[in-house]
Amino acid sequence: MSQSPKVVIVLARCSGNREPLGIRFEEQAAGRWLGNWAFAVKATTAKKEGYDRSEIRGGIELAPAYPRCPHCQAASIYKCGCGQVACWDGESRTVTCPWCGATGELRGHIASLSGGSDV
Ligand SMILES: [Zn+2]
Ligand SMILES: [Zn+2]
Repeated sequence: MSQSPKVVIVLARCSGNREPLGIRFEEQAAGRWLGNWAFAVKATTAKKEGYDRSEIRGGIELAPAYPRCPHCQAASIYKCGCGQVACWDGESRTVTCPWCGATGELRGHIASLSGGSDV
């Protein structure tokens, strides 16, 4: 196993101020993605880097060292039914998606995410 881990940057949006952020995921094993970094990113940069395009599937977890949302310090993330990712404080049960504006109840766990390759 000399393969270096696959790394993907997922474009997310802050639930607080709706600003974009990038979340870095590493594939720990087949279909197991660990989010271990988050950073503020400009929408234009995200598009240019392709963060909004490719897709990763499988189980998503956040590393203990995940640094929180760079905009509002939310500790977690969720994936909306529209397929986009947003930051989440980890406590609110009812959330409003900063991408599509839908309000919904959070349940279950994240199953797939979209992101650009950053290897
Ligand atoms: Zn946030
Ligand atoms: Zn949505």
